[in-house]
This record gives sequence, C-alpha cells and structure tokens, in this order.
Amino acid sequence: KCYPSQSQNIPLTCDIIASNNNNYNEKDERYIPLERLTRGALIGEGEFASVYEGTYLKNNGQMIKVAIKTLHPEQMQSSKGEFLREAEVMMKLDHHCVVKLIGLSEGPPLLMVQELLPLGSMLQYITTNSDRINPNYEFKIWAAQIAYGMQYLEKNELVHRDLAARNILLASKNQAKISDFGLSRAFGQGHQYYQAKEGGKWPLKWYAPESYNYGQFSNKSDVWSFGVTIWEMYTFGQTPYGDLKGSEAIKLIEEGERLKQPESCPDHIYDIMKRCWEYKATGRPSFQELVDIFTTDSG
Ligand code: ADP
Ligand code: MG
Repeated sequence: KCYPSQSQNIPLTCDIIASNNNNYNEKDERYIPLERLTRGALIGEGEFASVYEGTYLKNNGQMIKVAIKTLHPEQMQSSKGEFLREAEVMMKLDHHCVVKLIGLSEGPPLLMVQELLPLGSMLQYITTNSDRINPNYEFKIWAAQIAYGMQYLEKNELVHRDLAARNILLASKNQAKISDFGLSRAFGQGHQYYQAKEGGKWPLKWYAPESYNYGQFSNKSDVWSFGVTIWEMYTFGQTPYGDLKGSEAIKLIEEGERLKQPESCPDHIYDIMKRCWEYKATGRPSFQELVDIFTTDSG
C-alpha cells in the first residue's frame, strides 16, 4: 500500500518503519516497562514536551530505535490528562503518513514511545538542507503525503488543529508523516466541526478565520493550516508573517491580505495556497482534491 499508487511521475518509496505495521497490536506491548527503555540525546523540543532519541527492547528480544516524548516537568501536573489523551488518539491511528505510537510507559515520568523519524522535523530539515532539496520534487512528494495523511484523519473524524512544518516529521527524504496530536480533537458523529469552549496556547498564525473568531475547527480549518505549512516549506522555513504577533497577523487576514508568494513557489502552487486561504471554509479545497493535485500535477 505504498502511496501514491495513481502517480506515474513521482516514484515514492515507503519507509521500512512504515511496514512495521501491526507488530505492536498486542495490548501488553503498548504498556512499556521503564526498564526496557534507554534514553539518549534530546532531539526536539515543543511547546509542551521534550523528545529524546532512545532504544526499546521488545518482548521478542529485538532492540529498536525509538523517539521518547515526555512533558516538560512544569507541565506534568496540569497536562498529564491531555498527554494521555494524545496517546489514546495516536493509538487508534495506523497510516504510513502518520507517526506511529509504539506504546506508553507509565514511568514515572510518563513517556510516549513513538517510531523514530531519523531526519527529524520538516522545518528543521528544510532550514539546514536547503541546498539538497529540489522544490519540484521533494516538496511535492511531502505535500501529497501530508494531504494523504490528513485525508485519513478526516475519515477518522479528527481535526488536527496544529498542522505546521514543525509537526511534520521526515522518515526519509521520500516520506513525510504527520505528528503531534496534542491539540487534535474528535468532532463526533453528525457534527460539522469541533467547537472549542475556551482558547489556549493556540498557533494563531496557522489558524483559519472561523477558528480564531469562533473557536470552530473542521477539516477545512486544517486545510487552511495545510496552506500555511506548504508556504513554510516553499520559503525553506520562514516564519509566517515574520515578527508580527498572532493578533497582528489576524488583522491582515481580516483586511484580505495573505502570505506572499515564496520565490521558489510556482504560480500554480501559489494559487492552491490561496485557495486554502479562502475566507469562507466552503471555498477551500478538500484534502482529497489536494492529494490529487500534488500527485497528478506535472508541474
Ligand atoms: P509538542 O507537542 O511539545 O509540540 P512534538 O510532538 O511536536 O511536541 O515534538 C517536538 C519536536 O520533537 C518535533 O518538532 C520534532 O523536532 C521532534 N520529534 C517529535 N517526535 C519525533 C519522532 N517521533 N521522531 C523524531 N523527532 C521527533
Ligand atoms: Mg509540536
């Protein structure tokens, strides 16, 4: 089930990691005793968590490399429930464009054990390897894979709410995966969107108008964030709206302004970005359409 099958012009390889499917389906393997883990170097830091490289000695004696995510100590009390919820969401997901959760260790400290994506975050990769990237090749593959993974989340009635270059990880140069389900929510049967009851530490520069105005999150607000994510990609990791504060960026959006066309971004791809940033959610493309565009487009 290597993706995309319909593409003739973009040869994609599935990473070995992705074929490890179903190895950890047994419930006991999901709860990992601390003594089976070793922790190595710090490889990433987010708003809430630190991520370390490590190893996991499996029940069958096999030793594998993993990523170990743990909450910042000052977050541990207030965010423990959220962290467990994030793990619960990830446990239900199984797609090669979505980072896999291997298990949870109750510690203490509480740890999430994930498949290790050796190239780290897309944001970090594009800022340090810009000379090794062909926008007409890698960027299109990654965009297609992100859209494909997002379409899978849509089928599972999930909104991600934190789609951004920092939360896309690379297994290899040919395989991008969606990660960081810390803000994700199920919108539940029969609902068009998830309604947030209160604000929080929101990534406003990635948010659609209906999200920052009314707390409404849908697959179409994720599509807006997808547009910002590929804008980050084509600028090789620039910060959207530069030094502006979130509230100042919102003001620009409300006045009808949008992020500018990146130098390395062809017109037809900038047109797609602008469609993702249609003020009205219904005017934006679906993830299905985005998958099609990035896999069939000959650019
Ligand atoms: P937060 O919820 O605090 O934002 P993330 O899950 O986004 O935490 O992780 C923070 C950073 O750690 C990521 O941006 C990435 O650089 C790195 N990271 C996270 N998970 C992995 C992984 N499975 N493999 C490799 N690096 C990872
Ligand atoms: Mg993150």
